[in-house]
Amino acid sequence: MRTIIKAKKIINGVDDNIIKDKCIIIKNGLINEIVNVEKFKPSHNDLIFNYNNEIVMPGMIDVHVHLAFSGITDNRSFRAESADMDYGAQALRGYRFALEHMSYGFTSLRDMNAPGNVAINIKNMINNKKLIGPNILACGLGLSITGGHMDQPGWGSHTNFIDMTYPCDGPNEFIKGVRSQLKAGADFIKTNMCVSSTYDLDHPYKQEMSNKEIEAVCTEAQMHNVRVASHTSGGPSITTAVRSGIHSVEHGHWLDNETINLMAEKNTFYVPTLLVNERNFEFEHDANFTKSKNWKWLKLSREAKWESLDKAINSNVQIALGTDAGFMLPHGSMNYREMEYMVQGGMSNMQAIKAATQFGGKLLELNVGTIEVGQRADILIVKGNPLKDIKVLKNRENIEIFKDGKKFDKHSFLSN
Ligand SMILES: [Zn+2]
Repeated sequence: MRTIIKAKKIINGVDDNIIKDKCIIIKNGLINEIVNVEKFKPSHNDLIFNYNNEIVMPGMIDVHVHLAFSGITDNRSFRAESADMDYGAQALRGYRFALEHMSYGFTSLRDMNAPGNVAINIKNMINNKKLIGPNILACGLGLSITGGHMDQPGWGSHTNFIDMTYPCDGPNEFIKGVRSQLKAGADFIKTNMCVSSTYDLDHPYKQEMSNKEIEAVCTEAQMHNVRVASHTSGGPSITTAVRSGIHSVEHGHWLDNETINLMAEKNTFYVPTLLVNERNFEFEHDANFTKSKNWKWLKLSREAKWESLDKAINSNVQIALGTDAGFMLPHGSMNYREMEYMVQGGMSNMQAIKAATQFGGKLLELNVGTIEVGQRADILIVKGNPLKDIKVLKNRENIEIFKDGKKFDKHSFLSN
């Protein structure tokens, strides 16, 4: 049986203009054919949907989420929550979070570090058709130096919290880290090459992994034909990483011209995660905090991020949408804001939508992100026009979702 989406207005994720009057013909979950409405020949058992007023567009992609975490904003509560919950409970909750993303039109996700194989297990259940949900790529645990950004400094020294990250020291341990995560079922490798540093605000970032460690991870990952994504702040380690073949620069607050040019040349993706940066400024801070080095660092990094985005846009670096949902952000409901910030930073609405569709899809390499023949039929029907106002994507009642060509009933899981 075929499913037909007859649409007056389509944003296909490729063209810069709205495409008019097409029939999208779906077979076995894939876009089989796209024909002009007048050329369409229906057969008797076609399931036909007509959309005359809505915008039809590709399912969106959030390439930076943390399904194991809830988005709780207070650091102590974040730790308490992680300690309280078994991985089984975290996986069940993470699946719910994945559905939250999908209900807002995000039909593909990339998980950027989850303890206890939480995200890998959710992905496997969906891929094995035991559960309905978004397409997921997962890295398992991120690789970090001992005491580094993801090795959760700040727990009491008596606390034996072994599984928040995968600590590695020296090239050989990083090679083992890559192999261990692949054994666990990871689709790609996450690393932390450089971090924020509030100790010395003249040098607000510092390198964590040595160049040899960075090169070892990239070489090993390339040998296994998997990609490397890295949490980054700024400095020469990003340049080394891009040169070594890293696939995506996450956050990337301080990007210099050399790095930007190299990223453009090597097709390295930039995932600026603007929302999570801006999020810090939405909370009331006490007077002491706003005088602190932490606060000053946040302001410095905010300014630097907008400049880096500007440079990346002007140099045609591939920019993909990632929110960091799960870390200080809820899952799904704020995702549209990343596009609003992209527009604020100088991208057109169409460019921001392409970051959420075409470029996210290219980054994931899962045949998603555009409405073209051969792609998965992950398709949204949107009331209102996001080319005029991104905010129409704020309300999930404005969005109908087709996942692999089948209508996803968001109300069935939202019922309580
Ligand atoms: Zn993150």
